Amino acid sequence: MTEHQPLGFDTLKVRAGYDSSEHQYAVSVPIYQTASYDLGSVERAEKLFGMEEAGYLYTRIGNPTVAVLEQRLTALDKGTGAVAVASGMAAVGYTLLNLAEGGGTILTTPRLYGGTFDAIKHLFPKFGVKVEFVENSDDPQSFRQAIGPDTKAILIESISNPNATILDVEAIAEIAHDNGLPLVIDNTFGTPYLFDSFSHGADIIIYSATKAIGGHGTTIGGVIVENGKFNWANGKFPHFEEPQFLLRDQATGRERSTLEVFPDAPFTSRIRLSYLAYFGAALSPFDAFLLIQGLVTLTERVDKQIANTLKVVKYLEQNDKVSWVSHPAAEGNPYRELAEKYFPKGAGSIFSFGFSGNDEQLKVFLNSVKLFSYHANVGDARSLIINSPKTTHGELNPEEQALAGIKPETVRLSIGLESAEDLIADLEQAFNQAFVKAVV
Ligand SMILES: *Cc1c(COP(=O)(O)O)cnc(C)c1O
Repeated sequence: MTEHQPLGFDTLKVRAGYDSSEHQYAVSVPIYQTASYDLGSVERAEKLFGMEEAGYLYTRIGNPTVAVLEQRLTALDKGTGAVAVASGMAAVGYTLLNLAEGGGTILTTPRLYGGTFDAIKHLFPKFGVKVEFVENSDDPQSFRQAIGPDTKAILIESISNPNATILDVEAIAEIAHDNGLPLVIDNTFGTPYLFDSFSHGADIIIYSATKAIGGHGTTIGGVIVENGKFNWANGKFPHFEEPQFLLRDQATGRERSTLEVFPDAPFTSRIRLSYLAYFGAALSPFDAFLLIQGLVTLTERVDKQIANTLKVVKYLEQNDKVSWVSHPAAEGNPYRELAEKYFPKGAGSIFSFGFSGNDEQLKVFLNSVKLFSYHANVGDARSLIINSPKTTHGELNPEEQALAGIKPETVRLSIGLESAEDLIADLEQAFNQAFVKAVV
């Protein structure tokens, strides 16, 4: 081992961002359950408020337990900074506002998490943040054609929900950068283990930590990570360059900009000092602790989930009550080549299949599963099942569902850590119930 050999992913997921000597030598990350912090002295308070000394002021904008989660994800994604927030939706919302503050358009694809789709379609336009959907997500040129003078960023998801489709990320990144735009990737389904967003051209990464990062279905949280490479001074983002009273130099009183004070991590610093400070969706220290616990076993869980997924995909492919299976590992899947390029360790454990019976039979099928939990989360240690068109993507009208490639017979699975044989047996008995009992 050479002195400068960078630490491996698995070492970082267990240790990054935590030095026990700074925390009374506690082996496990302590939960700093405090709202506020003593300033120590008037002199120190001046330095803290003047951003001349790094330190904690108030847990809404920073907490030592939350900071371990932020630093650990920064290390795993090889970024320069991160900010943790109270949910994945807060991460999505703050990111889009920070990009298009004062008005602008986010260019994206209809293949989005249902909550994100709904928010950017119906809520964000009311705040001047408009959205434009590309015509053909599979064709990178479709993104180029849709860019206008008002476009502020391209937003995509690394693996789509529920059909596990994959985009040509590098081609889309090049188009974004040619046009002075950042590429934002929601890598919730990819996870930092399966998908190296920054090396493929992302500028900002969003996570719903609720899913694979926490991994046990216990905790809501979100994280935004940046790598400090994007040029926010290219004229499209004046809010990064404007002098702010809050960032004034304590000695001279001169107001400074986000870019001036935080050159390495301007995006997440600005979210912390504007949106986290004033909209306030702060992650609680206890929840950060649970998410850190989850990260410790990320690799082991995701590897097992992928191994289980491959077995379940194989089972479904040979099942005559299944009309199609949408996962890159399925025979003839059109995203296989992209998956091999971008997801060499596997394209995740969340995917969908077509149920070949009628609505009544689908009801019996869903009511008959015993091991699979019928609910709307993903990335849990438990296996989950849901009829997406009527639930997670139920806010999309039929036209929007068609645009997002979600067919009425879609069933989504999120494969967990149980024995694969038991999962397959559970699906088998539920299919049998559906096709015996409910033949009309
Ligand atoms: C769940 C999810 C979100 C929202 O996260 P919450 O933690 O539930 O607020 C955003 N994006 C994707 C891809 C998700 O799966």
